[in-house]
Amino acid sequence: MYYIASCSFGKDSLAMVLRLIEESRPLDEVVFYDTGMEFQAIYNVRDRLLPLLAEKGIKYTELKPDRPFMYDMLEKPVESKQKGKHNGYGWCGGVCRWGTTAKQKTLDEYAEQKNAMVYIGIAYDEPSRLEKEIKAYKLHPLVGWQMTEKDCLDYCYSMGWHWDESGIDLYSILDRVSCWCCCNKNKKELYNIYRYLPQYWERLKGLQGKIDRPMKKFCNKKYGEYGNVFDMEKVFEKM
Ligand code: SF4
Repeated sequence: MYYIASCSFGKDSLAMVLRLIEESRPLDEVVFYDTGMEFQAIYNVRDRLLPLLAEKGIKYTELKPDRPFMYDMLEKPVESKQKGKHNGYGWCGGVCRWGTTAKQKTLDEYAEQKNAMVYIGIAYDEPSRLEKEIKAYKLHPLVGWQMTEKDCLDYCYSMGWHWDESGIDLYSILDRVSCWCCCNKNKKELYNIYRYLPQYWERLKGLQGKIDRPMKKFCNKKYGEYGNVFDMEKVFEKM
């Protein structure tokens, strides 16, 4: 049997890969789907893990979207009931997770083509994610080890792994380290990006300048309704 680990280089899947190696569990290949929109810290963690994989004789494979993420987001000709013909799917996240759909499809096709068993980094305290996992070839070692999301982060930290971005560990300011442009981010996470990671905030403004739809929808007694990145910035300046 051939064993693949799907790794995003976030805390859960990294903890899973490190522990699989530590326990000498069968592991033939680590696969990373690169959206092209990851934080630099994710790529840095990847680059640090690659020599360990090579030392252990574990193959490393990088998969990518068929088309650049930015093309699908801003340029791809699409047609929808609400907007008719237009260009680009716009922000990714919420009910419109077109990037996740492409990622899942690519990863599943790869695993099925290899006829492999695939380790997935779903933590012990994510039962709703686990319920959606219906494919028999998917394995969930973190659940077996009863490792919660916090356990995974602590495990990575205890082994000296960090997600440093301009002197800040991403997990100290974000709940999840997903794509930097993900509109699933909550207000606290967006505020922290505005405050601590201005290089990414500028990129968010660049995208909002090209997308009509506001990135988020927040409502507040003091500031009213807002969600466009430029409006968020005005609110955040006063916080
Ligand atoms: S992390 Fe967010 S932006 Fe990236 S593919 Fe998933 S839903 Fe889309």
